[in-house]
Amino acid sequence: MALVLDEEEIWVLECIKEARIDKGFHIRDIIKKAKTGYGLSRSTVYEIVGYLEFHGLIKTNKAGNREIDGSVAYFVTCLGCGKEIPGSEYVKENGKPVCEDCYLEVHQKIKFADPVAVRSKKLFRKQHGFEGTDGLTELQKEIYDFILEEGGATPEKISKLFKLTLQETSNQLALLRHCELLKWRKMGEEMYMVPFDS
Ligand SMILES: [Zn+2]
Repeated sequence: MALVLDEEEIWVLECIKEARIDKGFHIRDIIKKAKTGYGLSRSTVYEIVGYLEFHGLIKTNKAGNREIDGSVAYFVTCLGCGKEIPGSEYVKENGKPVCEDCYLEVHQKIKFADPVAVRSKKLFRKQHGFEGTDGLTELQKEIYDFILEEGGATPEKISKLFKLTLQETSNQLALLRHCELLKWRKMGEEMYMVPFDS
């Protein structure tokens, strides 16, 4: 059975990702964040953390702290199309998790002439004379240039550097991935965004 998280569980997981320190996370930080950010009570946070521990998504590490086990897969349900999507691939629209396709349908800078005929944004861009970073926003260009120079970066690093929330960052990265300018690569325990052609 795939682990499918509901909205509150996703919120808690996001708080954990934002409050993460080198050797895991402190539940006190999560409770604070979940309360101010989402209005979740202390007991709800404990309950959800317990549930995620039960499913192995949160484990206790050697240092005795809780941390996310990156090797455990989980899914969320897209509120746009109902598809179950891997936890690393959803983006947020008005606070609700949606798949990248649904998100881009609303937000894409590059409009599809015929979404069925033109499935690949790269192909679409080519047909419309877009090269490389043509048609991207300034922010998307800056992020892309940064990753080109560095050879790769984690979403956390990009969000800190560009002063974006993790969610804004993953929205921007999603668009760059759909344009086939970037792709994911696992390095050690971390997922990096790297240039598509690397
Ligand atoms: Zn969807």
